Amino acid sequence: MTSVQMPFMAGRRVLVTGGAGFIGSAAVRRLVTDGAEVLNLDALTYAGDLSTVASVADRPGYRFLRADIRDGAALGAAFADFRPDLVMHFAAESHVDRSIDGPAAFIDTNVVGTATLLDTALAYWRGLGGDAATGFRFLHVSTDEVYGALGPDGFFTEDSPHRPNSPYSASKAAADGLVRAWNRTYGLPTLIGNCSNNYGPFQHPEKLIPHVIAAILDGRPIPVYGDGSNIRDWLYVEDHIAALLTIAAQGIPGETYLIGGDAEKTNLETVETLCAVLDDLAPSGDGPHARLITFVPDRPGHDFRYAIDHARLTGATGWQPSRDFETGIRDTIRWYLENRDWWLAIRAAGQGAARIGLGKAAGGSR
Ligand code: NAD
Repeated sequence: MTSVQMPFMAGRRVLVTGGAGFIGSAAVRRLVTDGAEVLNLDALTYAGDLSTVASVADRPGYRFLRADIRDGAALGAAFADFRPDLVMHFAAESHVDRSIDGPAAFIDTNVVGTATLLDTALAYWRGLGGDAATGFRFLHVSTDEVYGALGPDGFFTEDSPHRPNSPYSASKAAADGLVRAWNRTYGLPTLIGNCSNNYGPFQHPEKLIPHVIAAILDGRPIPVYGDGSNIRDWLYVEDHIAALLTIAAQGIPGETYLIGGDAEKTNLETVETLCAVLDDLAPSGDGPHARLITFVPDRPGHDFRYAIDHARLTGATGWQPSRDFETGIRDTIRWYLENRDWWLAIRAAGQGAARIGLGKAAGGSR
């Protein structure tokens, strides 16, 4: 694998929605470090935390606005005041298990919020002239989960049909459709990146990898859904940001680009890797951490396999994942070991430890 050059972002004016969350904050840190002017617009839900951007918060290029993407008036004022040339839209309800228990919030933020943001961006873009209008981009950050579940073979491509199976993925597919429609109908220069599972620093402890790290460090049972055979492709978060900045700089308006890590793992393999690395970095006197693995009832509608063919993006731009799974996991575990206060505070607030999302339905999607 090769490392790719980040596109030149210095001087660009980037409105980042959801920039206090896991992936959005990685974008904010990267952009501010690279000399971009950044407006981080975030409602600070349970998933948003300004500690994720503390390392750049004092830089002159950074500003923060607490606002909700469903609030058209607040968005209009933010666009008029900040005058972005790029919108990177991360803000979303993002946890599949939560979407099973409470889908309404996902429709509200991911669908209605995205439509409100698109409408605001369109009104702003229509008021721009010349180079400013030509250069403006709206980049929607989406997921491979919109394509549903694969069997043991094959890969998603940009031509795969949308077949979402969870309320989360259905809301993201709806948002993708709106973004496409605002391009086809109104000409707004939009781009979409559909990415596989991310991991890295500052991921909320409700998500698989930090959840398992925390369980191991607590000496609690490690929950593995079903028989652990479901397959996910994993991408280190900074590689996702590199892909998104590449798409923002070089992507063709109206296009969709798949982004993946070439790192397919069964969930059981992922958990076993975490156990093995923590056997090395934080050994337990009670024996190998894998003794904590406990199989629990599967998630309803649990997609069997996701896998990405990112040939369009790589062919057009040369982007490649730069960090292999084993290196990225080791770096991530080190970060969670060195930043226990961060995730322990979230857990102390009552989040990220309990099992949720069993819903009423049963069965998986294969
Ligand atoms: P996250 O849950 O960590 O962060 C979401 C952020 O959005 C939070 O800061 C939250 O406060 C903010 N937010 C939520 N509702 C809002 C609203 N109504 N108005 C303004 N801000 C609001 O999510 P994440 O894992 O960083 O994911 C970011 C984006 O990337 C999402 O759109 C998600 O669908 C997409 N994505 C995530 C993954 C992944 O593996 N995590 C993979 C592919 C795509």
